[in-house]
Amino acid sequence: MIFQMDMYMMIYLIIFLVIFICCCCNIIICVWVYKDAEKRNMNDPAIWLAVVLLGGCVGCIVYLIVRDPLPSSNQDQETSYHTPQSNDEPSFDIIYCPSCGAKLDSSVKFCGKCGNEIE
Ligand SMILES: [Zn+2]
Repeated sequence: MIFQMDMYMMIYLIIFLVIFICCCCNIIICVWVYKDAEKRNMNDPAIWLAVVLLGGCVGCIVYLIVRDPLPSSNQDQETSYHTPQSNDEPSFDIIYCPSCGAKLDSSVKFCGKCGNEIE
């Protein structure tokens, strides 16, 4: 009888641990998806956060299929294209809005085009 009790305790403990680990993984994946969606300049990372949170693995797979490509290569092309023209412009650092890609003075706090806060 005591042995059986221990068995049940073990099973409950294992089930609890499995659920706990699943929740931790889910949270890590959600955070990763949110950061990834932000990095890819996607319009609504919060919606994708909800999709992965509610859809679990399926939501994560859907996100991986439909997510936008990384914007880095596109921005590099734009930067190299604009560099020769900026010689006769006043010498301030040119940055690009992480949200909409607009060309901005590095001294500004907010993007003039979309209102995104510049870090
Ligand atoms: Zn912007």
